[in-house]
Amino acid sequence: MRVMVLRKQNSIDISPLGMEEWNIPEPNEKELLVKVICCAICRTDLHIIEGELPPKRLPIIPGHQIVGIVEKIGNKCMKFKRGDKVGIAWLRKTCGNCSFCQTGKENLCENSLYTGYHEHGGYAEYTLIDEDYAYALPDNIEEAKIAPLLCAGIIGYRAWKKSEIKKGQILALYGFGASAHIILQIAKAKGAYVFVVSRKENHQKLARELGADWADNDPSKIPELPDASIIFAPNGNLIPPSLQYLKKGGKLVLAGIYMSDTPPLEYEKHLFYEKQIISISANTRNDGQDLFEEIKNIQIHTHIEKTSLENTNQILQRLKKGTLNGSGVVVID
Ligand SMILES: [Zn+2]
Ligand SMILES: [Zn+2]
Repeated sequence: MRVMVLRKQNSIDISPLGMEEWNIPEPNEKELLVKVICCAICRTDLHIIEGELPPKRLPIIPGHQIVGIVEKIGNKCMKFKRGDKVGIAWLRKTCGNCSFCQTGKENLCENSLYTGYHEHGGYAEYTLIDEDYAYALPDNIEEAKIAPLLCAGIIGYRAWKKSEIKKGQILALYGFGASAHIILQIAKAKGAYVFVVSRKENHQKLARELGADWADNDPSKIPELPDASIIFAPNGNLIPPSLQYLKKGGKLVLAGIYMSDTPPLEYEKHLFYEKQIISISANTRNDGQDLFEEIKNIQIHTHIEKTSLENTNQILQRLKKGTLNGSGVVVID
């Protein structure tokens, strides 16, 4: 099978992923062998390739937003059969034994493993996954449009659940990238009002096109205080205004994996009146299952740009430069 392999961490600018011919792997008794249809690219790939994340395994095939078809199953697999469409995400394995795993918080597991980091990922014609960590995917969306949901979508969905927004309530989104544009569509489909705060005018325009009830760059102009807000932008300076312009008893959810430090907060202005701040750390399998259940009934529009396996370096270079229009997806032909 053809694979794109990282043998040594290096700047994406010198195209460190090399095309190689490897043997198709054999699934163990609990694993599925998946024929990859496509794999969406993610900023975390850049962190792994360029070395901001310490190497866990080299050589490694990166890629952790994989859609494919089950080709072969291990002899103890019970959940999937040959021909099923499955998704593979960043969270690859949890220990099941730590205090977090035992209490439904496997997103905080101390011993978790990740796809395309600890184990080979999806920039390849075939890949393996423990069937307990594969997602059953809906048939109503094109595979390349589901792939970007497997990282940004699942994390965003966890943030949405934590906001506990109900029909008729107001949700504010700060920053309008891949996660936010999916969550906007889910929130609107479930009858919430959605306000978007973004510095970029093209993002405000896209938010309005996707149904936002208000979009602007200035949170002080927000027409009505929201019941909850989610910050997607990695900017800690957004925390004080988003708390200031939040309803009493409201929730502020921080959806970014990384965020710059927050400036000092004033108790009366920002925190009093039972306002809550909730940070999001990765996701549980439940979050992913709930998202894919949800989108069976909601038509989600995702903007994608496709490329071929041999051009994986090039599309990652464009992600780094910020010249991609939508989510990049590597399609295996
Ligand atoms: Zn990712
Ligand atoms: Zn654990």
